[in-house]
Amino acid sequence: QEFIKALPKAEVHAHLNGCIPLACLQELARDHAFNGGSMTAEVQRGLAVLETGVVLSEISDFFGLFPAIYALTSTPPAVKKATQAVLASFLSTSPPQCQYIELRTTPRKTPHMTAEEYLSTVLDVIESFEGRAALILSVDRRMSVDDVSRYVELAKTLKREGRAIVGVDLCGDPLTGNMEDFAPILASVHDAGLKLTLHIAETPQNDEPDTLTLLSAKPDRLGHATFLTPAAQAIVRREKIPVEICLTSNVLCKTVPSLQDHHISDLLLHQHPVVICTDDTLPFRNSLFEEYALLLAPPPLGLGFAEVEVERIAREGMGTTFRSTKD
Ligand code: IMP
Repeated sequence: QEFIKALPKAEVHAHLNGCIPLACLQELARDHAFNGGSMTAEVQRGLAVLETGVVLSEISDFFGLFPAIYALTSTPPAVKKATQAVLASFLSTSPPQCQYIELRTTPRKTPHMTAEEYLSTVLDVIESFEGRAALILSVDRRMSVDDVSRYVELAKTLKREGRAIVGVDLCGDPLTGNMEDFAPILASVHDAGLKLTLHIAETPQNDEPDTLTLLSAKPDRLGHATFLTPAAQAIVRREKIPVEICLTSNVLCKTVPSLQDHHISDLLLHQHPVVICTDDTLPFRNSLFEEYALLLAPPPLGLGFAEVEVERIAREGMGTTFRSTKD
């Protein structure tokens, strides 16, 4: 669709290890084997699932895909190759899928690299895209409070050093972690000039205290926000906190029954700011072009919005980014 290709777009909810192009992952598997890395049954199984196409019964199945990917991105050269391929898939196609991307990733320490080396490798690649890409450092709900604290401090240090980091994210299995412990640490990112985005109310099991505690950290954007209770919804609407919308991801993870039931319709009805994103293009086999195509396509394939509306969504999405005017 020429109309979609020509629209200026921002991608702000894409997980690095969830967006590795399949051909790159296969190359990483060959490199891994060549370098004497063990191809455990788990890695082989994960790779086979990603090659044939992922079918998920529920969102918890989804997190089981990552150990196989992580086994193949455990050295600085592999992380560099993966990051280059991810950014090229968004920014170097003709035309590019988006004009600007905030790529998020969780710091990871392996026998071959420290978490600092991991982030520095990712940032070197991001910075080679000269202002068209920036990093959001993710902390995972499964982490210990000490690790969350350490990584948030690392994010602040990177920001002070002038690296291309714009924010912190909270991600991971939505049913883990005590958010009472995490919220004050997450809120502190603002003191360092960083922004905050949180995966929030992603499943029906995320109860109101969990959601309200996260909102107390004053997030600047929200990921998914599918199951906001009325009290949480009132805060999100009052503060006009933009919501990162991942249509394909939500349908495939079965957190929404169908596209027609997706909460984007209600958000737009209330003129709430949204930004269209891909989430994890590797398992979901989607692209930003396809996510926008879903907005335009008539039901039941898509949501049937008019071109002027889709153009407005894209333009307003560009306004939700974390880059400051001086970046
Ligand atoms: P990484 O942070 O670059 O390693 O990207 C993969 C990680 O992102 C996964 O291990 C998850 O913790 C997280 N992630 C990806 N998609 C989702 C999602 O839809 N909800 C919550 N966490 C997610």
